[in-house]
Amino acid sequence: MIPGGVNIGVLRADDGKCVLIDTGLHETSAKKALKAVREELHGEVVAILTTHAHADHFGGNATVVKRTGARVYAPAFDEAVLRYPLLQPALLFAGADPPASMRGSFMLADASPVDEVITGSHLSVNGFEIDVVSLAGHSPNQLGFLVEGVFFCADIVLPKSVLEKYRIPYLFSVRDHLASLDRCSEVECAMAMPGHGPLLESIEPLRDLNRALVNEVATRAIEFAAEWVTAEVLLTRLLRHFGATASDAPSYYLLHPTVFAFLSFLLDEGKLQHDVRDGESLWKVK
Ligand SMILES: [Zn+2]
Repeated sequence: MIPGGVNIGVLRADDGKCVLIDTGLHETSAKKALKAVREELHGEVVAILTTHAHADHFGGNATVVKRTGARVYAPAFDEAVLRYPLLQPALLFAGADPPASMRGSFMLADASPVDEVITGSHLSVNGFEIDVVSLAGHSPNQLGFLVEGVFFCADIVLPKSVLEKYRIPYLFSVRDHLASLDRCSEVECAMAMPGHGPLLESIEPLRDLNRALVNEVATRAIEFAAEWVTAEVLLTRLLRHFGATASDAPSYYLLHPTVFAFLSFLLDEGKLQHDVRDGESLWKVK
């Protein structure tokens, strides 16, 4: 593991050929990973497994590929964002052309080639036999990788420090995320490497913390929709309630789709109703 803002996993084969799991945010994190592989492991990177299409996890891919020719493996669906990274800020900005303030490196990564789209539950890469675990929800098709007892579990659980910073964690699908939280603790492993924070001997304490927060946001969303509200009013109420510091476009729009993830989940669950009238899209408890 190369610890950092985003942890990078390294699988080293006896012949020195290495597989990276994620590459960090940008060129600097990629160069740091290449240096660690070459100087500490006396190896060379031949492949990258990308867990999901968030810029902080694949932003270093382009640099690693340019310098090593590594093959890139990425989850189906998410792979589109690796190839067209503008999709990420565009998806956050209601699907439209995002403003300059949302084109920083945290939002807009360098484009990465994708050589293999991961679709099955097993992968053989450079002699490593890898079980692929769906951890969808945090991104449309986030994947975890289980290799020789180590579970690279990406952002299925966020450490306390990250939860305290963002207060409401970004989600694409609440339903998928809850199912993935159940699934992740069924994986038999000796240790887990999350995308952020220290190695985990057991994933369960953080799973419970993350799940409790999702349930708390869902409960508040219902409470704050006692009368008809727009999604934006509901988002403001949630941000204020949870003390989230959304003071610029990236931090606000990161949670814009998240409120819609909760709205569609609660609508499907029969807890909320939706109506469009007089030019407003409105939500209310059922
Ligand atoms: Zn992520």
